[in-house]
Amino acid sequence: MIQQLGLIGCGLIGGSVALALKAAGTVRHVVGYSPSPTTTERARALGVIDTAAESALRAISGADVVLIAVPVAATERTFKTIRELLPPGVLVMDVGSTKRDVVDAARRVLRERVTQFVPAHPIAGKELSGVEHADALLFQGKRAILTPLPQTDATLLTKAEAIWRACGAEVRRMTPEAHDDAFAAVSHLPHLIAFAYFASILQQKEADEFLALAGPGFRDFTRIAASDPAIWRDILVSNREQVLAQSTRFRGALDVLERTMRDTQGEALEALISGVSQARSHWRLNKR
Ligand code: NAP
Repeated sequence: MIQQLGLIGCGLIGGSVALALKAAGTVRHVVGYSPSPTTTERARALGVIDTAAESALRAISGADVVLIAVPVAATERTFKTIRELLPPGVLVMDVGSTKRDVVDAARRVLRERVTQFVPAHPIAGKELSGVEHADALLFQGKRAILTPLPQTDATLLTKAEAIWRACGAEVRRMTPEAHDDAFAAVSHLPHLIAFAYFASILQQKEADEFLALAGPGFRDFTRIAASDPAIWRDILVSNREQVLAQSTRFRGALDVLERTMRDTQGEALEALISGVSQARSHWRLNKR
């Protein structure tokens, strides 16, 4: 049981964790802070937090668990704000979509308190941001990846795992490096491609007409192009090297398909597509 959760960043993910823990009966009181007073007020009105704090420091005062759910580039600043008043024994977690940069910042800023920090990334989300879209069921049946450091306190790590399980997630541990390599391939690159693809449609003078004709395949393929710009700016910049490496691979695969379309009568193209189609039809969410 968490006596008091200090939530810094009352948005989609932070709000969803608070709601999930409340629904599970795992938290007694949630104190929340976001820079915009209208966000904290909305979070309180929606029952996501119980008390609105005027600063990040006030949000962590008296908390036994602190959750940082801000855009990844704001994480280091948040560590700096809370470091001096962070009592020993308090668990600190984040939810950022990149882990190498967050872990580096934690080492730099939290120093001896880094043992209290458990880096986390729930593999669940929406293209809609903001506390009004927070959902107690967001993490049900999804994964939460934890990327602990060698010096992470074992008791706090166990507590972090219990918290994500209480939210309904299946917990998995990885190194920050393995995490960023994998999510560059299966999350960050698809967002980059979705942004680029939608941009390429918008640049055409017939864009409105084309978009009016588009069907469910287009809707499914481009859903993530509606994602929050500030959140995705931070992720793509933070994991730039890995995303660019995956983008180069993608360009190679696209080149092969284009060359095959140009040079053959169709059999080779069908063979290429059939290999991909079979692999995709066997793929299942959260299955090895
Ligand atoms: P969001 O709905 O936009 O929420 C972000 C919250 O952070 C807002 O309440 C914002 O407050 C607050 N904030 C911004 N800068 C801050 C600062 N310097 N100090 C304190 N609070 C600050 O975004 P989100 O989707 O929840 O994303 C939050 C984190 O979750 C990101 O690190 C993202 O990588 C990660 N994540 C997102 C998804 C997803 O699908 N969206 C999935 C997994 C992980 P204001 O409203 O006052 O600006």
